[in-house]
Parts: sequence; C-alpha cells; structure tokens
Amino acid sequence: MRYWIGFTGGYDSTYISWRLLKETNHEITLVNYSQTFMTKNREFSTAGASAYQQVNCRRISKWLKKNVRDHKFKIINQPNFPDNTDFAKQYMHDCAELANNDVADVFVHGLVGFYTDRWKRMLAEFEKYATKGRMWFPLTEWKKDVAHQMLELPEELEKMAISCHGPGTEENGNLIECGGCPKCIRNQLVKENLSNGNSPERAMEMLFEEPIHPVLFQAREFRKQRNSVVWNVSVESQKTR
Ligand SMILES: [Zn+2]
Repeated sequence: MRYWIGFTGGYDSTYISWRLLKETNHEITLVNYSQTFMTKNREFSTAGASAYQQVNCRRISKWLKKNVRDHKFKIINQPNFPDNTDFAKQYMHDCAELANNDVADVFVHGLVGFYTDRWKRMLAEFEKYATKGRMWFPLTEWKKDVAHQMLELPEELEKMAISCHGPGTEENGNLIECGGCPKCIRNQLVKENLSNGNSPERAMEMLFEEPIHPVLFQAREFRKQRNSVVWNVSVESQKTR
C-alpha cells in the first residue's frame, strides 16, 4: 500500500511517520506542504509559512531514514491562497485529486480528532471528491495526543519535533522554539503536567481547566472562527462512486 503523509515536523506528524515506518512495510511518502511563498496576511498563516519547517522536516526525514527505514520525502510549495483558507480542508481536496490520479492509496492527516467531530467533516470533504483511495486519521483512531507522543517517541526524535509557529536558531545553528506561541505554551504545560506525575490523558485534560492560559484561549477562539470560513476548492472532479 502507498501511504501519503502530510508532514510538518511537529509532534503529530513526526509520531505518525515514526510509527508507520517502524510498524509497517507500506511504501511511505512524507509530504511537507510549504506556505513559504504565501505573501498575504502573514498573521493568519501557520507555521507552514516559515522556512524553518522545511529545514526541520528534511532533518527528521533524514533521521528516520538512518534510524528506522527508507521512505520518500517531498516538499510541495503552495501558492497564494485567500486569507481565510483552511489548510486542513485544502489538504482534503488536494488528496482527493491525488487519489483520483492514483498517486497513493491511503492519505494520512495528523488530526487528534477524538475531542470533536471535525475529522468527520474533513473526511466527508475528501469523500465528496475522491473516487478511490482512503483518508485516515491515525491519531484519532489510536487515541494518541501530544502527551502520549512526548512519552513514546525516541528521545532524539522527540527533541527534533518542533510545532512552534516561529522558532529561532541557537548559536550553533540548531532550531530553538520561541516559547510564546500557542504550540510552545501548550507543549510546555503538557510537559509540566507529565513531570508532575499525571497520566497523558490527565496532562491533556488539565490544559482546558479554568483558568485556561490566555494564549491557548485565544488560539481556541481563532480555531472556532476558522471553522466557519468558506473553504477554497481546487478539485474539479465529481464523486462517481
Ligand atoms: Zn513557539
């Protein structure tokens, strides 16, 4: 089976890639969708707009090739999208097109979806256009959130997973997280909760207990807004199955 994995070098996609390479013999392609060349509305853009992500993805792929097994690695540059593009939905459309063109059999998205039904809406979007192939949300099925991932990933690889929206570099050239974006705040709090002896489930739960950290609260409001925007459609094909 040919697996196409949306890959950002953050915890979710690094964990999925590591497990699928380790536990299966599938033909795996890690694909980083880069928004580096997007010029509009930077503050809406995600970490995908940062050039560091490409560098980090390449670095992690190299580590996985050396320590787990061989696979393909690809960077796809995304063009200018409207300001309100939902990249998750865009990914569903792009994957449907690739499925119809027989590029891969299974398409993987790193959504940790067991808290909401967002994955169902995403899946419906894929199935609206795809005439073959499958969209899969392994973290939703495995019930693995970032706290589990932090505990299970090999130490070296765990250190390489960077979810930050705007990391910098240390003097020796290594990437360093900014410490202030929603992903950095979340990861710090989860690590803190884990080091206090909480289970991974509890460590995640504690994030959303009052008082919620203001940066996480803001990020949650932003996501609510984004979920209601008009999505950009690129797939021309119609569902025939
Ligand atoms: Zn950060």
